[in-house]
Amino acid sequence: MIVILKENHDKEQFENLKDWLKSMNIDVHVSLGQRQTVVGLIGDTTIIDADLIRALSIVEDVKLVQEPYKKANRKFHPNNSVIDVGGVKIGGGQLQIIAGPCSIESEEQLCSIAESVKAAGATILRGGAFKPRTSPYAFQGLRAHGLDLLLKAKKLTGLPIVTEVMDLSQLNLFDDVDFIQVGARNMQNFELLKELGRMDKPILLKRGLSSTLQELLMSAEYIMSEGNEKVVLCERGIRTFETATRNTLDLSAIPLLKELTHLPIIIDPSHATGIARLVRPMAIAAAAAGADGLMIEVHNDPPHALCDGVQSLTPEVFAELVQQINSILPFACKYN
Ligand code: PEP
Ligand code: MN
Repeated sequence: MIVILKENHDKEQFENLKDWLKSMNIDVHVSLGQRQTVVGLIGDTTIIDADLIRALSIVEDVKLVQEPYKKANRKFHPNNSVIDVGGVKIGGGQLQIIAGPCSIESEEQLCSIAESVKAAGATILRGGAFKPRTSPYAFQGLRAHGLDLLLKAKKLTGLPIVTEVMDLSQLNLFDDVDFIQVGARNMQNFELLKELGRMDKPILLKRGLSSTLQELLMSAEYIMSEGNEKVVLCERGIRTFETATRNTLDLSAIPLLKELTHLPIIIDPSHATGIARLVRPMAIAAAAAGADGLMIEVHNDPPHALCDGVQSLTPEVFAELVQQINSILPFACKYN
């Protein structure tokens, strides 16, 4: 249920309403807009009489919300959320570019890529330390040592860092990580999501391999319902019958999610296509469709990368791509 308050409503009456709702075990989520105050009611609202609330002098309207996600719902929070990642604002109208290698391989590899993506215009550095690989015999990442190297690259470049956590047991190593990634394979690891919801850190939540947008939003809701509302969504391609690409990039997720949620949306064209030469057109299309950010894999020596070399751009191609993206940004779709 959503309660829209009248402009210049009596503050004391609003406090009384909140106290009453809380006494009924209803969680109250207040969103202050420029003109409107929108109050989201979360919990078992079947016990609340909407007409009774509608009749209050401070209330302009009451709306019932059908969707099972509440905190992530745009109806609860009409304005776009802006998530601060180590000083970089995602969702504030500026396209943010996350770039770096699929996996952290060595100090030289990571620092060289970090410096080149920064020079090209990336604003956040990515690098996997714990890698979810289909084969147990494939490189599994440098794990804790990889995180140490990522922190070195952060110190060197000043770029905030994003990296994936695969399991609750790893979380104690993530204190200095600016942005914690939940990979596609963990989108429905609900215990992990709940624990991340109790942290005060931005979370990059990737869409599951075969997940619907509603399932993605319900996973965001798991994090948000525990108190952490700093969630950024990532479309990274979904499984379809098509085998010509690694996944099928669902670009319509951008305008649709923009209707459904206030959370920022970024696009990962690298994992979506799995083919380096397809990354550029898909990145440009995502920027034009109004994504809040892009996540692109870059490697200084793609043929010898330990993971995902075929979809990685060289630093030179990445730099050209950033320029091309910047040139189309004035024409990009805007939401809200
Ligand atoms: C990644 O970004 O490193 C990754 C493994 O992506 P995904 O979870 O989308 O497959
Ligand atoms: Mn990868």
